[in-house]
Amino acid sequence: MKPTLPGIHHVTAITADGKRNVAFYTGVLGLRMVKVTVNFDDPSAYHLYYGDFLGRPGSAMTFFVWEGARGGRVGAPQVVVTQFAIPVGARAYWQERLAKGKITATAQERWGESVLAFEDPDGLAIELVEVPLDSISTFEVGADSVVPVEYAIRGFYGVTLASYKPDSTRALLSEVMGFPSVDETSSDRTRHKGAASYAAVVDVLNQAELRHGQSGAGTVHHVAFRSPDAEQQKAWQAILQERGLAVSPVMERCYFQSIYFREPGGILFEIATDEPGFTIDEPAESLGERVCLPPWMEENRAQIEASLPPL
Ligand code: ZN
Repeated sequence: MKPTLPGIHHVTAITADGKRNVAFYTGVLGLRMVKVTVNFDDPSAYHLYYGDFLGRPGSAMTFFVWEGARGGRVGAPQVVVTQFAIPVGARAYWQERLAKGKITATAQERWGESVLAFEDPDGLAIELVEVPLDSISTFEVGADSVVPVEYAIRGFYGVTLASYKPDSTRALLSEVMGFPSVDETSSDRTRHKGAASYAAVVDVLNQAELRHGQSGAGTVHHVAFRSPDAEQQKAWQAILQERGLAVSPVMERCYFQSIYFREPGGILFEIATDEPGFTIDEPAESLGERVCLPPWMEENRAQIEASLPPL
């Protein structure tokens, strides 16, 4: 059976200010903090996860917190815009909410969809896109969200890619990954869609004339796609290798297992498993309230916690 990748699993970006990041994603955007842990490759830094009530695949926005990190530059090869889904009719609420928070937002229409574009405090480019509620009802808004449920963000809508080789990126998406291009065309971008009804849009900017990006605060580090299980992830590893791509071994991320590769246009892609999710090491009701560490770091908890700044 051919393995599937129905949509986006998570997006990971970089922030230079953990406290400000928490204030924005929970206090302004109304997402739930679903996990506070450390970067498994650099335990001196937090890794923060926000999402719907459980941080379901397709809703998890995550940040490496590198306090005081230099600002990056948005450009190729990166995910240049992270898009969240909001219910149809919610844009006006968000325009007002962001204006109250002194955040400049630009309303636009794209292929009949209402879009609101703005930046987070690090300069990360975000869009809210209105979609029919039934397509995103899989996501559950936390009861303590500061945003009323009828307007709340329900997972990702998609991502926008700036690739150095847009044609090769598009070929990988449609011929291999199960994200065929759809009817929408415009001079600046081509839209691809995965099989899921949510968190499955990938827009590829057509021009590689985009400026060169540089990794740093306010840029996306990588985007992860969802594999329903570990067996299919293994199959993807083989398929991508056959395609000539260098794929990492399977990495244990506790909340999912991951493989990483650079797509032909240079953007870092990950394939992450849906299971086991964020309730593996703390109860659903109290997700994100304490620092969770992977089992192999527990013996160093005191030392690790002492080196982390307060959030
Ligand atoms: Zn990741």
